[in-house]
Amino acid sequence: MEIILAKTAGFCFGVDRAVKLTYDLLDKGCKVATLGPLIHNPQVVGDLEGKGALTCPDIDAVPDGYEVVIRSHGVPRSVYEKIGTRGLAYHDATCPFVSKIHKIAEEAGKNGALLLVAGDASHPEVQGIVGHTSGEVQVFANLDELENMRENLAQQKSIYVVAQTTFRVQSWESCKAFLKKWCTNAKIFDTICNATWARQQEAEDLSQKCDHMIVIGGHHSSNTQKLLQVAARHTDAVTIETADELDRNWLRGAKVVGVTAGASTPSSIIEEVLNCMSEEIRDDMSFAEMLEASEAKPLFAGKIVKAKVISVSPTECVVGIDGSKHTGIVKLNEMTHDPNAKMEDLVKVDDELDLVVVKTNDQEGVDTLSRVRFEAQKGMKDVSEAAENGTVMEGDVMESNKGGVVVNVKGVRVFVPRSQATMRRDEDYTKLVGQHVRLVITECAGRKIVGSINKVTAEENKAKREEFWQNVEVGKHYTGVVKSLTSYGAFVDIGGVDGLCHISELSWSNLKHPSEVVSVGDTIDVYVKSYDPENQKVSLGYKKEEDNPWEKLKNEYPIGSEFTAPVVSITKFGAFVRILPGVDGLVHISEISNERVNKVSDVLKVGDEVRVKLINVDFDRKRISLSMKACEGEVEAEGSDAE
Ligand code: SF4
Repeated sequence: MEIILAKTAGFCFGVDRAVKLTYDLLDKGCKVATLGPLIHNPQVVGDLEGKGALTCPDIDAVPDGYEVVIRSHGVPRSVYEKIGTRGLAYHDATCPFVSKIHKIAEEAGKNGALLLVAGDASHPEVQGIVGHTSGEVQVFANLDELENMRENLAQQKSIYVVAQTTFRVQSWESCKAFLKKWCTNAKIFDTICNATWARQQEAEDLSQKCDHMIVIGGHHSSNTQKLLQVAARHTDAVTIETADELDRNWLRGAKVVGVTAGASTPSSIIEEVLNCMSEEIRDDMSFAEMLEASEAKPLFAGKIVKAKVISVSPTECVVGIDGSKHTGIVKLNEMTHDPNAKMEDLVKVDDELDLVVVKTNDQEGVDTLSRVRFEAQKGMKDVSEAAENGTVMEGDVMESNKGGVVVNVKGVRVFVPRSQATMRRDEDYTKLVGQHVRLVITECAGRKIVGSINKVTAEENKAKREEFWQNVEVGKHYTGVVKSLTSYGAFVDIGGVDGLCHISELSWSNLKHPSEVVSVGDTIDVYVKSYDPENQKVSLGYKKEEDNPWEKLKNEYPIGSEFTAPVVSITKFGAFVRILPGVDGLVHISEISNERVNKVSDVLKVGDEVRVKLINVDFDRKRISLSMKACEGEVEAEGSDAE
């Protein structure tokens, strides 16, 4: 028979803390009274009583001069008030996970919300929770009871929902699913503690591999009973309080037997049970080794651990740390560097994560963990190798400062000085923030890690240039980015090569400056007008033939057509009128009026809208003749006809 002892078997963090505190007080010679049995284990309670501890049902029963120990279950607020009234000294061993629920209960009361508690109404932990709210409270033991409350819940303005720390995980998940569907006004808090969660999870897994499961724990222990329920779903399972209760006939014929234990079961009792099964064992491990293997390994800052996600909130996720009885918290900023990320998009319940311990907190039983630092540790190896062999790395630019930008490369912060960030000094390097970039690591010494984006860009541009000069042709189109503007044109990067688009090639109109048409940073479509590979010069065109106004004139303005157009300039010999953008025609002084005109400015000024007739177009010399008086004659003629 093979025996598999669950790694999570035995005292949980909260129980261990309460038991140690009580033994310490007794060792110091204090007179100690516990409110109810300290833990759900008669053997431990018996031992404490043997050392002088009193087990009192309530405060009234505590004799004067005794110091009260509040057990890990916690107590209602009224008990603290009674202790104060009696003037007794007390030591609060309420488990921090239970204290957290007390705070939620208080908040529910203050906010006028109904407090819903998933748990056993007769359990002291639940009674303690109930006694911490000043508002309405209801307790339900399972999904059926919760469903029966549906009508009442629908009438509530606000609901806070918590679970007893030892509530059955699967049952809690069903209750949560129901609440999310039917009570959109419910704020649900995942308060099942990691010790419970990890034990139930392991019991679930272990019981599927075993012919029998033994759950060691007090018959009145809530979490022991839950473990039994979980194990019994998959295999033949029993609970025993001590080795004396083990029926060895029941084990006969079994090939694999799993052993787990409730959170209040000391390792001495687990060892006794294992000893009792010894004749049946054919496993290489001694009991001492088995126990050691099942015990939690110490955590320390910097240790890499595996952990499973227990719950997810917008700002953090709670994880159960493998091989530890502690719960861990990963804050959003320790999960990712992305300031816009949401925790729900990054992880989900049951995900397994590799993390680094940032801070241990034995008092609270909650450790601070980091995914970002794990990635950085892993990435550091790659980054230092890349620094040695010049490998090109990729990363996201996270932030900029006066000196340059910081790039996240595999979780490592790499500083890129501004001179190494962009190819041109006048380029705005802060625009790189949020971009995915390629870079080389130029320095990697301790925490000083420096990179260069430029070097990669320069290499890439060189390759692009070679490719460009091999394939360039007159008339070929490129999509380019306007890099700079001068008075005579725009320089456009068409892939590693900067071509000049002369101002006359930007528009059919006469421009004063290229900025009338394009701006730095614009992405534009250009074509090659000519190129000189020897001097590495390329002339580009931007204006399109279909927009040529002379073509438009040919198609839309036949000789003899009349139209109204503005006067754009006055000369001694006539006035220029704008027919189309970039196309002006001349009304000679002799064509202004049937009357004699001595001076053009006597009858016309810039901005006047005049009626003109197209008399002649010389497309080769780009000259257009217009007449105003030709229109006058027609108006008069039309007027005579009408008379
Ligand atoms: S089971 Fe969890 S909540 Fe209860 S005492 Fe242990 S650690 Fe604390």
